[in-house]
Amino acid sequence: MKVIVAEKCGFCHGVRNAISIAEKILAQEDEVYSLGPIIHNKDAVERLSRAGLKTVNKVDEIQSGTVLIRSHGAAPEQIARLKEKGVNIVDATCILVKRVQHIAEEFEKDGYKVVIIGDENHPEVQAVVGCVKDAVVIADESDLHKLPEKARLGIVCQTTQSPDHFGRMLGAVGRGSFRELKVINTLCEEAIKRQQSAVQLCKEVDIMFVLGGLESANTRRLADLCKKENSETFHLQNWDGLDKEILFGKNIAGVTAGASTPEWIIAEFVENLEAFNTAEDRN
Ligand code: SF4
Repeated sequence: MKVIVAEKCGFCHGVRNAISIAEKILAQEDEVYSLGPIIHNKDAVERLSRAGLKTVNKVDEIQSGTVLIRSHGAAPEQIARLKEKGVNIVDATCILVKRVQHIAEEFEKDGYKVVIIGDENHPEVQAVVGCVKDAVVIADESDLHKLPEKARLGIVCQTTQSPDHFGRMLGAVGRGSFRELKVINTLCEEAIKRQQSAVQLCKEVDIMFVLGGLESANTRRLADLCKKENSETFHLQNWDGLDKEILFGKNIAGVTAGASTPEWIIAEFVENLEAFNTAEDRN
């Protein structure tokens, strides 16, 4: 089968940095924790777990050793509690996520009500919320009722949202009642480039695969965008998750991957797909 890989896909610099920091610490120390999965990819988490990385979900589960703050960041209150415990903290928060946190803090200092366009359950958003005293998270138009009336609103966006969604939400907020609106674009360029090249590619192929963690927000966004353009789009963790039946009758496949999908997952998938012969492999 002919396979075309999206021009931009796979690890972003924020994730690459977090993984390389984790590998370095694991080579030097025995007791290393990640506060939450280091990235939203089961294969990568399992690989680092075999190297000794312990993933915990709460600060209470850590008493000693070194703690890695993942690329999504952590709330200042969590960092303060870790400091109280006297554990060694290594911060691998992506600089673009740090920027969102910083902007939110500045908005609040300047008297704006902080508004985050994003998913309130996502760790990046939770960390930004934790940086200020009071923030409102709006995922879509159904959340607009959460905004206070006639307020001064300071708006940021979860880094991996799509520009279309960000723009639509700004329009919706702008049609409401507010005294002042201040917006800073906090979208991640790397995530946008992945979205653009995935959407472009999916229009040119018979079938499109989006590889990455099923719980990864940026991978899910890629899959949603591609599905709008090509209904034969499938979001898979890796090659093992593929039902080969869907390949029959298809000649050209497109492959993209989220910012948290390791290179080896993409390479293995592409290699197997290229070797797949829709005429012979059915038997
Ligand atoms: S997707 Fe962008 S914001 Fe998120 S970790 Fe990667 S580089 Fe940073």
